[in-house]
Amino acid sequence: MAEFTMELNEEQREVRDWLHGFAADVIRPAAAEWDEREETPWPVIQEAAKVGIYSLDFYAQQYFDPTGLGIPMAMEELFWGDAGIALSIVGTGLAAVGVLANGTEEQIGTWIPQMYGDANDVKVAAFCSSEPDAGSDVASMRTRAVYDEAKDEWVLNGTKTWATNGGIANVHVVVAVVDAELGSKGHASFIVPPNTPGLSQGQKFKKHGIRASHTAEVVLEDVRVPGSCLLGGKEKLDERLARARERAKAGGERVKNAAMATFEASRPAVGAMAVGTARAAYEVALEYAKTREQFGRPIIDNQGVAFQLADMRTSVDAARLLVWRASWMAINGKPFTAAEGSQSKLFASETAKKVTAQALQILGGNGYTREYPVERMHRDAAIYTIFEGTSEIQRLVIARTVSGMSIR
Ligand SMILES: Cc1cc2nc3c(=O)[nH]c(=O)nc-3n(C[C@H](O)[C@H](O)[C@H](O)COP(=O)(O)OP(=O)(O)OC[C@H]3O[C@@H](n4cnc5c(N)ncnc54)[C@H](O)[C@@H]3O)c2cc1C
Repeated sequence: MAEFTMELNEEQREVRDWLHGFAADVIRPAAAEWDEREETPWPVIQEAAKVGIYSLDFYAQQYFDPTGLGIPMAMEELFWGDAGIALSIVGTGLAAVGVLANGTEEQIGTWIPQMYGDANDVKVAAFCSSEPDAGSDVASMRTRAVYDEAKDEWVLNGTKTWATNGGIANVHVVVAVVDAELGSKGHASFIVPPNTPGLSQGQKFKKHGIRASHTAEVVLEDVRVPGSCLLGGKEKLDERLARARERAKAGGERVKNAAMATFEASRPAVGAMAVGTARAAYEVALEYAKTREQFGRPIIDNQGVAFQLADMRTSVDAARLLVWRASWMAINGKPFTAAEGSQSKLFASETAKKVTAQALQILGGNGYTREYPVERMHRDAAIYTIFEGTSEIQRLVIARTVSGMSIR
């Protein structure tokens, strides 16, 4: 186990500074344009691929940092640059993690490279779980996957929604129901390879924030994929379903869901994105407050403004510490006995919403215009309390975990 320290090591500092440079020089200057265009910033993704930020190698290196801080540090810097563009850069990683977590070595080797493409021909990937009637309530998912034994193919039918990169992805990872009686335990994940007939993009959503990130419906109509596209393989699925049926027969004792543990481990990454946006807005507000003069003095000379900045900075630092704690616990296999992953996501996302609103207020009229980045950051921040589990769902998870009660 890595020794606990509050300091980044030299290698981490180098990576952080390198990422910060990319965020400051490439992402931030492009942010307003791609927000207005509401399109995937392909040239920026390509630039990230050229320097090695948009790649599985980079993601894996950060992921396996033994301190656990590689991913949160990377997320904070990229999202400090701009949330919409950063999500376009890391969205593929979220789908890749789905394959890394559940796929066989062969599936990982086959599909992950196709998710990224290469620097001359970049591709993106999408993770499609949410449906119009199954957001927080994942168990009510309707998309079905039926096995056609004669052809060793799975046939997928249903409609996914709010999929980041949905429809424009080279590879889609789709979660579907294979046994409706088992609720969320009867779900499985499938790779839908490039250009598979039957998969199409439904509506592309016009959004409040993170507008450089593509979000769309994905329609699946008799989508046939080879048996080898079931993540983890059929044998493992059959074993898992048999165990779930046994448990259901034995009275459905509440088991610790493996997916739950995965969420606890991945939520800090979303918390880190929120820390990036919050820190960015705080920094703009601090600079502005020091230079904007009213009543013959900088506005920060008023405690009413200065104390807000003090609170903003304190919240950002507290959020980062919760994120780092949960990330360190995840890499060291510590049990999340108080849902520390959810805690970090809850606190960081609420912090981002609050701090960006405070920053907007400190910039006054300018904060309300698109002349300054805080207006965009304020819109972007609203996503963090919604995706990867809303704040209410995080509170539910924390309350259930600390109380041991089935709170509804
Ligand atoms: C920009 C964007 C990108 C996304 N990307 C992806 C993606 O790539 N892949 C993917 O699969 N999904 C994605 N999502 C979907 C996202 O994860 C869902 O929107 C989220 O899980 C919430 O589901 P919902 O929108 O259906 O809200 P609902 O579940 O309908 O919730 C509505 C409100 O009710 C509250 N609520 C619901 N149940 C309870 C409860 N039991 N107790 C208290 N309050 C409750 C919620 O907290 C919320 O405030 C994305 C969404 C957005 C907006």
